[in-house]
Amino acid sequence: MEYFGSCLCKGVKFKVIGDFEDFYLCHCRYCRKDTGASHAANLFAKKAKIEWIKEETKIKTFQPPKSNHVKAFCTNCGSALPNLQMGGNLLVVPAGCLDTSLEMRPDAHIFISDKANWDESLDEIDKFERFPE
Ligand SMILES: [Zn+2]
Ligand SMILES: [Zn+2]
Repeated sequence: MEYFGSCLCKGVKFKVIGDFEDFYLCHCRYCRKDTGASHAANLFAKKAKIEWIKEETKIKTFQPPKSNHVKAFCTNCGSALPNLQMGGNLLVVPAGCLDTSLEMRPDAHIFISDKANWDESLDEIDKFERFPE
C-alpha cells in the first residue's frame, strides 16, 4: 500500500510505502497539548518506509523532557507530521496529515485515564454538516 500526505501549507509532502500495524486514539496529556484536541490519532508501522517528496519548509521535532512523546511539525504551518521513534524502528504517522483515504478503523482509545473531563460520550452530542447557524 502507498499513502500520500502533506501539511496544511503543502511545504512538506511525503509518501508511506507499506502497511500500518496499529491505529490508536491517544488521550494522554501530551497528545492533548500537542493537538489542542481531545486526542491524537496516530498510525504505527514497524516495516513501512517513508519517502519525503517535498521539504520546502523545515520540519522540527520536539520531545518533552523525560517523556517518550515526540511531535514533528512543519515550522511554517505547525501541522503534525510523521516521525521515527525507537531509534528509527517505529514510524508514527498522524492520521490527519494523510491525503490518501484510509480504510483502516482505529484499534483503540488509549491513555483514557488521562482524558479531559469534557471528553465523555461525545458521540451523543449534536452533529452538523457545517458550522451551525
Ligand atoms: Zn506546512
Ligand atoms: Zn498520547
